[in-house]
This record gives sequence, structure tokens and C-alpha cells, in this order.
Amino acid sequence: MKTNATVIGLGAFGSTIALELSRLGHDVLGIDANAERTNAIADQLARAVTADARDERVLRELSVHESDIVVVAIGEDIEANILTTLLVKSMPKPKVWAKALNHNHHRILEKLGADHIVHPEHEMGLRVARTLIYPEVLDYISLGDDTFLVEVRASERLSGKTIEALHLAENRIECMLVKHRALTLNPAPPAYRFELGDQIVLLGLLTNLRKISRYL
Ligand code: ADP
Repeated sequence: MKTNATVIGLGAFGSTIALELSRLGHDVLGIDANAERTNAIADQLARAVTADARDERVLRELSVHESDIVVVAIGEDIEANILTTLLVKSMPKPKVWAKALNHNHHRILEKLGADHIVHPEHEMGLRVARTLIYPEVLDYISLGDDTFLVEVRASERLSGKTIEALHLAENRIECMLVKHRALTLNPAPPAYRFELGDQIVLLGLLTNLRKISRYL
């Protein structure tokens, strides 16, 4: 399904979202007060406009109220971020995603009714910190309640061993799949022997995943 999205504020965060949504085939309107920012990605979006998003009339003229999603990605200028969120939340149709800079800002956005509040710097920091602590973790998704889906890389130590070496059953971890070069093994046969660099996708509680990290 094609979504109509508006991304307001085309800094590092906003432009990444706008470009990715556009690459996925969605109809993206990018708005930034700074013409340099707008021009930098104008040719890759359906529409890119230089405008001040604090002006309600401008937002109407650009049909922002008809968007399915509006992302308020204005960074440093908290006042502009809050005012823009207030304006787009008064439009009945769009779901509003807003970027928060700190805890108090988050509380204000929540009161304004933002549907999703994101803390990109904080979340990216956590992600980097977690992958640094567990270097074999390539990526992960938190599913809530301490349950994680993690993608790990088979190390030298695991190379030549079977899945039994991971002690999955006793830690109530499921191996969802093993990716060996272009081949996806789903499920990986018990006799399969890992090779260095295989990608292994595991599902389980973080505490249990930590326990088996020494076997990876
Ligand atoms: P990031 O951390 O994502 O790079 P920035 O604070 O650098 O965030 O970028 C935010 C963007 O929002 C900037 O390009 C800035 O020009 C834009 N911006 C700030 N105020 C407004 C406004 N009132 N209307 C539209 N765009 C704005």
C-alpha cells in the first residue's frame, strides 16, 4: 500500500526517513525551512518544499492534513518542534511521529497526543552500546517483556560445531534460522556444522541469550 507521508525537518534524522520511505515507493513530501536542506534531496522525493512549518496556512496549502503520516523531525529548535506537532495534531487524519530531544520534551509531546515519540540519539546510543558489549550481535529487535530476536555471527570458536554447542534448549532459546552465504536454513538441521561468518537468528529472553553468548 502506498502511504502519503510528510517529513518536516530534513536534518540527518528527517532526511534519512524521507529518503527511505521514498525508496520504498511511498509518496513523500519533505519540508524544511532551510532551502539547502530541501534542495539536497528534492530530486529523490515526490515533493520537497522550503517553508516554515510553524505556519498553519502553509501546511494547509501543502495538503499536509491529507497525509497518512507526518514525521516532525525538527531537531534543536524545540519550540518549533512543539508548535509544529501541535498544528499537525489538530489535523484529524495523519498519524504523528515526533522526535523528542529529552525527557521533558517527551512529556510535552505525549500531552499533545503525538502517536509515536522517538528518541533517535538515545536509541542509536543504546543500540551501539549493546552491540559493543556483545560484538557477535549484528542486530536485534526488542519484542518487549525482555524477549529479543537477535542476529549473531558465528565466530571462529563455533566454526565446525553443530547447533548443540549453543545449549539452546536448556536456555529456552529458539534458533529461527541460519543463513549460510546465500543459503537460508530454516530450520537448521541438527547435523549442520557452522562456518565462520554464518548468521544465526535466535529468539529468547535477554537473560538467557546473555548466558549462551559465551558459546557463540
Ligand atoms: P538532526 O539531528 O536530525 O540533524 P537538526 O536539528 O540538525 O536535526 O535538523 C532539523 C531540521 O529542521 C533542520 O534542517 C532545520 O532547518 C529544520 N527546521 C527547523 N525549524 C524548522 C521549521 N520551523 N520549519 C521547517 N523546518 C525546520
